[in-house]
Amino acid sequence: MPDGTPPRPARTLRTPEALHAAGLLPAGALAGAAAVAERYSIAVTPAVAALIDPADPADPIARQYIPDAAELVTAPHELEDPTADAPFTPVKGVVHRYPDRALLKPLLACPVYCRFCFRREAVGPDGGLLTEAELEDALAWFARTPEVREAILTGGDPLMLSPRRLGEILGRLAALPHIELLRIHSRVPVAAPGLVSEALAAALEAGKPLYLCVHANHAREFTPAAIGALGRLVRAGVVLLGQSVLLRGVNDSAGALEDLFRAMLRARVKPYYLHQLDPAPGTARFAVPVEEGRALLRRLRGRVTGLAWPTYVQERPAGGGKVPLGPEYPPAG
Ligand code: SF4
Repeated sequence: MPDGTPPRPARTLRTPEALHAAGLLPAGALAGAAAVAERYSIAVTPAVAALIDPADPADPIARQYIPDAAELVTAPHELEDPTADAPFTPVKGVVHRYPDRALLKPLLACPVYCRFCFRREAVGPDGGLLTEAELEDALAWFARTPEVREAILTGGDPLMLSPRRLGEILGRLAALPHIELLRIHSRVPVAAPGLVSEALAAALEAGKPLYLCVHANHAREFTPAAIGALGRLVRAGVVLLGQSVLLRGVNDSAGALEDLFRAMLRARVKPYYLHQLDPAPGTARFAVPVEEGRALLRRLRGRVTGLAWPTYVQERPAGGGKVPLGPEYPPAG
């Protein structure tokens, strides 16, 4: 390019060299990123790459996805498996932690790999796709567990499945009389909006209410393409919820949170959860103390519509489940 700016990539960037060639990783950070790549997956989609300002060393989009040598330093409080899914896994791909709902993880691939991911030891493009037999076992478990009313597809990112495959899985779950709700957790509408085709949207019309939790952490992630993808989902009858993680350097100010929640609402996404960061290995640079998070939310109270207000939650260690973190207010009068 005449001004020396590297061309924007047409494909997902999966190596430090590719990130460097696209101008998203400085030469001095290549060796550290290469060491990270030996342990954790990397993926930056064209949509995400286009959002990053390479001239800004503190860019909040880059910070979420560009590998950093700090990821190889495990802080004393960090845990290999912060959510402790294993003890709650009755069959492969299923996590049953709460009586009325259970997770189904049909694959562990994602469109992007977030540097703060709580499943970072597990997610990646190579693994985690349930075999036919494993998927049948998982669906059979749902069929014989009538106390489960809500099937939550997560992973990995379920919207990485083909529309046909996803439609089949949702249809099988929706056909179970005791399944009242379907839920999907996904980064695809913001990170790879082009994957949200009309066929994919149609695959979500499974005959039972379907809630889609969109993971987004910064207002800039709601691009026109992302809003278009979310609109296709709304037209397919999907109810959109937002989930975010409170992240140092990404959304750790009242203004950034306000912008994020307002951007969600404009895209028809109701902010649902603001997660306290799970202590996965090598994520300390993203940590915001709980008291600081509470103070940020207190500053938003009254400043933004109640529709923009998510529940601030923390996952208890050892699979103890989520607890709301407030902020608390004294009773009136
Ligand atoms: S999209 Fe979700 S599961 Fe995948 S890397 Fe990001 S946080 Fe982890």
